[in-house]
Amino acid sequence: MSEADAVVVGSGPNGLAAAVTLARAGLSVEVYERSDTPGGGLRTLPLLDSDVVHDVCAAVHPMVWPSRFMRRFDLAARGVRMLRPELAYAHPMPEGGAGLAYTDLERTCDELGEDGPRWRRLMEPLVDRGRGAADLVLSDLRSLPADPWAAALLGPRVLAQRAGGGPLRTERARALLTGVAGHVIGPLPSLPGSAVSLLLGHLAHTPGGWPIPEGGSAAVADALVTDLLAHGGRIRTGHEVTDLRELPPARAMLLDVAPRGLLDMGGDLLPDRYRAALDRFRYAPGAAKADFVVSGPVPWSDHDVGRAGTVHLGGTQAQMFHAESETARGRRVEEPFVLLVDPAVTDPSREVDGLRPVWAYAHVPNGDPRDPVDLVRRRIETFAPGFTDTIVAAQGVPAARMAEYNPNHVGGDIAAGAMTVWQTLARPVPAVDPYRTPLGGVYLCSSSTPPGPGVHGVSGYLAALSALRREFGVRDVPDLAP
Ligand SMILES: Cc1cc2nc3c(=O)[nH]c(=O)nc-3n(C[C@H](O)[C@H](O)[C@H](O)COP(=O)(O)OP(=O)(O)OC[C@H]3O[C@@H](n4cnc5c(N)ncnc54)[C@H](O)[C@@H]3O)c2cc1C
Repeated sequence: MSEADAVVVGSGPNGLAAAVTLARAGLSVEVYERSDTPGGGLRTLPLLDSDVVHDVCAAVHPMVWPSRFMRRFDLAARGVRMLRPELAYAHPMPEGGAGLAYTDLERTCDELGEDGPRWRRLMEPLVDRGRGAADLVLSDLRSLPADPWAAALLGPRVLAQRAGGGPLRTERARALLTGVAGHVIGPLPSLPGSAVSLLLGHLAHTPGGWPIPEGGSAAVADALVTDLLAHGGRIRTGHEVTDLRELPPARAMLLDVAPRGLLDMGGDLLPDRYRAALDRFRYAPGAAKADFVVSGPVPWSDHDVGRAGTVHLGGTQAQMFHAESETARGRRVEEPFVLLVDPAVTDPSREVDGLRPVWAYAHVPNGDPRDPVDLVRRRIETFAPGFTDTIVAAQGVPAARMAEYNPNHVGGDIAAGAMTVWQTLARPVPAVDPYRTPLGGVYLCSSSTPPGPGVHGVSGYLAALSALRREFGVRDVPDLAP
């Protein structure tokens, strides 16, 4: 192991964002990654016995456009094409028909019928603030909002939605919005669910939309790795860090791990109070991933759904409230919430010799050992009869085994920590600087820190800025442009 100014453990989007930010400040940076492939949640691999590649974790990137890190890093200028489906997400209904959220707000409202004007009143003011509302949420959640108007718009809307009521009246529009709230992976209705539905919901109608990187999420990881290496950084893959004391001396160590990971690597070094606070950190219900290789597009009963980048299979609002709340209580439901992406709909290059990937996951209790393939297949079949006949190969990862390929997913929690109201604000522990730990020079930079889950790199970026200020006296934000 060679010495470096800064060491980063873990190469997910946050670990890489931290490493790039530190390297661009002129520091020597070494990244340690347990997997053989860098990228964490940004890996794209041929999982089944074919040339078809699958996104192992993240597939859709609504938070790249508003991310203050990604904005400065500028993926487009680096040749990464974010392909934006005109139909951002769809929500097929049990009785037929579907809720459709287009990038074009106008068209969405037109097709929502009597709820069109209400959808517009909910989303348009947020869309008009540009990145204001997302900037507010994709932050350390401690600084004053740069756009106070966005805060003034978002707050009352979140509260109005919280009880599951909100202004929408038709079953289709309510289900459409609740499907977005489902991304929080927790009981519904809830304040975090309401906030996420408005955050991700309005982003669908912004210039960023809900895009898919051409070729898969690894295109984003590759751009980050290329920049890091170009600025002197090094990545050691296949190297699991089990104890902080095994790392070479460095003035800063940034850990792209969940609190459980820090406890495993250095729990005995931590003061009792901080260790107890990390022990109290709560994990969310699990996600169980199912990947399919199929011989054609998903045969949706409602043909419009086949144009969507993302599909939410949750049924009515009441069904989603029931399924998500039961799952959060640790109870299995037969009709869980399933998210599905058929990437070739947006990116035809994902189809190889007539075969294409289908990416899906079901929300299940944390630690659920069930193989999800059949559960997910049946859920898809309900809305797309004949799907089973298109399956060429399939692979499932139970929630209980998600941590095997990434220990941050404790019990299958892909958010690396429940998004409760408390844990949204006090993530990972209540602190003025949430990234700093009591160990000198050691920082947490994963999605277990603010702003939380998703591919945006903001946690890593803000943790790196904190480390630059405290450990190196660097107050200027490094230039991240290509
Ligand atoms: C199935 C699934 C689907 C998802 N879909 C989406 C989506 O569509 N859109 C979206 O925005 N987000 C999605 N997410 C969430 C997103 O992937 C995460 O929020 C994001 O990747 C978190 O980034 P991170 O850098 O904090 O951690 P990760 O991406 O989890 O990276 C952590 C890295 O640290 C490494 N590591 C951990 N411990 C050690 C150790 N001790 N030693 C060395 N290395 C270590 C891990 O191997 C991993 O590479 C999904 C996640 C999953 C699992």
